[in-house]
Amino acid sequence: MKDLHAFDPVDNEKKGSVKVSTDQEIEKKFFLARTSLKEWKNLDIADRCFFLKEFRKTVLNNLDDILHTLKSDTGKPDVEILMAEIMTTLDFIKYYENNSEKILKKEKRRTPIEFSKNYSYVEYQPYGVVSVISPWNYPFQISLIPSITALVAGNTVILKTSEITPLTGKKIEELIDKAGFPQNVFQVVHGGGEVGEKIIENKPDKIFFTGGVETGKEVMKKASENLIDVELELGGKDPFIVFEDADLDRAVKGVVYGSLANSGQICVSSERVYVERSIKKRFIEKLLEEVKKVDIGDSKTSEMGPMIREEQIELIKNQVDDAVFKGAEMLTEFEHQGNFLKPIVLDQVTNEMDVMRKETFGPVIPVMGFEGVQEAVELANDSVYGLNSSVWTEDVEKGKKIASMLKTGNCYINDVVKNIGNPYTPFGGVKKSGIGRYHGPEGLMSFVEPKSVMVNRNKDDELNWFPYTEKLYNSIESMLDIKHGDSGIIEKAKKLFRMAKK
Ligand code: NAD
Repeated sequence: MKDLHAFDPVDNEKKGSVKVSTDQEIEKKFFLARTSLKEWKNLDIADRCFFLKEFRKTVLNNLDDILHTLKSDTGKPDVEILMAEIMTTLDFIKYYENNSEKILKKEKRRTPIEFSKNYSYVEYQPYGVVSVISPWNYPFQISLIPSITALVAGNTVILKTSEITPLTGKKIEELIDKAGFPQNVFQVVHGGGEVGEKIIENKPDKIFFTGGVETGKEVMKKASENLIDVELELGGKDPFIVFEDADLDRAVKGVVYGSLANSGQICVSSERVYVERSIKKRFIEKLLEEVKKVDIGDSKTSEMGPMIREEQIELIKNQVDDAVFKGAEMLTEFEHQGNFLKPIVLDQVTNEMDVMRKETFGPVIPVMGFEGVQEAVELANDSVYGLNSSVWTEDVEKGKKIASMLKTGNCYINDVVKNIGNPYTPFGGVKKSGIGRYHGPEGLMSFVEPKSVMVNRNKDDELNWFPYTEKLYNSIESMLDIKHGDSGIIEKAKKLFRMAKK
């Protein structure tokens, strides 16, 4: 049996290991997940919410322990762990505790007049066994929010966390046990890509995948062999657009946070900064001042921690070198101590450089000038990605118009990143940033399949049944005219009424 080793990004020390799940263990977990499905999906939503609440309380009662594990797996600043991993997760659980019953309520629908004596409704059924495959950058939040959403919808869940953050996967498994979920309703498997593939071979009824574009494509390809429904939350290259009428000081602080939080290792990091030319010089001066103030380290109040792995620094270096080679100006030094990389500010970048085209996932702030709304929108939309975007202007109406013009799944006016943490709104990407939405009512709906039900209370033969006659043909012809022809609306209504009475 192989082990996953946990390395602390702060010092590259090995902090523990977790056994990789074997093929037999994975198969057994699927069998158990299917067996426990019947009882779980037949519970009232309120009863399922009881277990969500228990889980939420369990997380709260184990804060220090969770914080310590996440710190060791990711090296993130404590504030970030508490805010973006733990608080966000709990907020979303509570949102679904409070709103799932309303969102999943059976819904009456209209029935066309010619279906007389019929009525219709839509009910929502869970998929069955949902597999959640998650990345290392938010290993707690991105594992738990989709899992909990799938669970409250009546699915059972098999979660695979990232091989880079194995202790977090183990911790989640312990928390599930402590919270007292019914047996096998929520299970965890451990391993890397090959375990992910094994999960897909076990034919879950839906896959919720978060990770890179290339892996997402592999997942979708393999899932298509069994026509498994796949939701993909993939990478981003988010534009951060600053107009001359923006509050400059706030925009500068916004971009420093948006580009450097979690050391730039966020899917919704600000990765392309477009600034209106009239204010670009002042923007950059202020930016360089702000960047200097960022506290890099691993103390309780540090703002920027290490990169997850040394190799990530090499990838970033390649992008920066490519930019400089193609004419960008480097306004800071490329410096790192171990995995702690200092922020990099680039000026004179263009959309042809890798640093503006490929996902960077690091503390790089590439700045480019633009002239007016049209150019800003064209530059921002010139990307294969379309996850989040950030628009800065004191004219909110102008900001809203620009938001509508941007080809992104989400947009934040006069702020950055934290719109992903709003439980009430859907989140997801367009273009290569993904397929589907989670969060909000839409997120819950993505874990159920609607079933429409029609009930006929008629006791007589139906008009459309056999035998087909000349009279039936003529009635259908006049119905066509009534429904779609040019006769007056009152005439139509009368005819419909007469027909309905016959
Ligand atoms: P990754 O694609 O390398 O891995 C993600 C998960 O997929 C891991 O659990 C991994 O073990 C698993 N995996 C790898 N190969 C697989 C295969 N063939 N079949 C099934 N599973 C497989 O991504 P990562 O490096 O862990 O995460 C970083 C990426 O995630 C970035 O691109 C980032 O933008 C993206 N991300 C997106 C969002 C979002 O909401 N859109 C959020 C966070 C991260």
